[in-house]
Amino acid sequence: MKLPTEIRTYCPYCRSHQAMSLKIEKPGRRAAGGQKLAVRRQIRRRKGTGNKGKYSKKPITQNKMASKTTKKTDVRLKCKKCGKSITKSFPRAKKVEVVTAH
Ligand SMILES: [Zn+2]
Repeated sequence: MKLPTEIRTYCPYCRSHQAMSLKIEKPGRRAAGGQKLAVRRQIRRRKGTGNKGKYSKKPITQNKMASKTTKKTDVRLKCKKCGKSITKSFPRAKKVEVVTAH
């Protein structure tokens, strides 16, 4: 998937459509908070007796985890009017690159 360096989209700070500069977010920033929460939940559920919820199940095999061949890409959009930036995720694609418009 090819993306332009500049797109016009909604800015929640300006509450209107603005020209935004586009950059691909570094991998690893996605789901950082969610993972931490999941780990805490796992520890909590493992305490004491009783059903451990979804952690009672057998762990997913390596094969099942790697079943998807594409990745979702996070894109950082910086508003040219107010200078604030938002993060949006784009649909699954094998390869994403930013192309300068001519
Ligand atoms: Zn803005």
